[in-house]
Amino acid sequence: MGKNSNMGKVIIAGAGPGDPELITLKTIRFLRKADAVFTDRLVSEEILNRYVNPAAEIIYVGKQCRHGSSTPQNLINELLVEYALSGKFVVRLKGGDVSIFSNILDELQELVKHGISYEIVPGITAASGAAAYSGIPLTARGYSSAVRILTYHRSNTIRDSSWKELAQTDDTLVFYMSSENLDILVSNLLKNNIDHGKLIAVVEQATTPMQNVTISSFHDYDLQLKGKTFVSPSLLIIGKVVELHDQFAWLNNDRSGKSYFIPVSNKKIINTKVVQNVG
Ligand code: SAH
Repeated sequence: MGKNSNMGKVIIAGAGPGDPELITLKTIRFLRKADAVFTDRLVSEEILNRYVNPAAEIIYVGKQCRHGSSTPQNLINELLVEYALSGKFVVRLKGGDVSIFSNILDELQELVKHGISYEIVPGITAASGAAAYSGIPLTARGYSSAVRILTYHRSNTIRDSSWKELAQTDDTLVFYMSSENLDILVSNLLKNNIDHGKLIAVVEQATTPMQNVTISSFHDYDLQLKGKTFVSPSLLIIGKVVELHDQFAWLNNDRSGKSYFIPVSNKKIINTKVVQNVG
């Protein structure tokens, strides 16, 4: 790595879950020095405005599969390589942490293939952010001794045989990218005899001023949560630890339904390029 002195470098960095103060000093240092920043939909405008070198080019390569537009991964890969090969110092900024549901693998493979040097900087993942800002310690002593990070955004991501085990475990379950499938997720767990007293928390826009936590037991699910739509992004926490929210919540809910992460098309930032396929 670094054989060619004219070659740039790529920093793959996590921006945290929302609150602009939940970003590392290291990532801020790299953003201040960047020539170009490739950013996702779940990185707030406030983070970009506050920390990015004002002379840097900001390139949106957001993925928003079900809601209109998104940038194909191969295009993101190509652009990262093109910018780095032209000698630029590039930050690839991703929401939350870079190693959790973030397509980092594709980008790393591409960088290695082209001999481009890189560093990886972790971020606070949505599960940690939501847990802290909703007062739900994920492995609270006496409640749960493990936590699982899962997703159920396509019906094939969990095998039929796994639902039984998920329904029976005492581990805390955290589901990313799954709130649109909450009804079916809950019905799968109910079919497999999950304890009806167990609680589900839906944490919308965790760590932002629009955070909203809604809680229901499996018993009351039909009444409380069934058929509801949630503001993106939202995270599901399932398990006995959710009982602790009542006692330890410290942030008021925002029931306005407003979005903290505004759609790419409405972003107003100078030096900005939006790269995506629309439709
Ligand atoms: N790399 C990210 C996850 C990207 S996948 C991380 O480590 O957090 C996108 C999913 O993350 C969303 O669908 C949602 O489930 C979750 N997510 C990200 N930010 C969130 C937030 N502020 N509040 C609630 N969920 C969030």
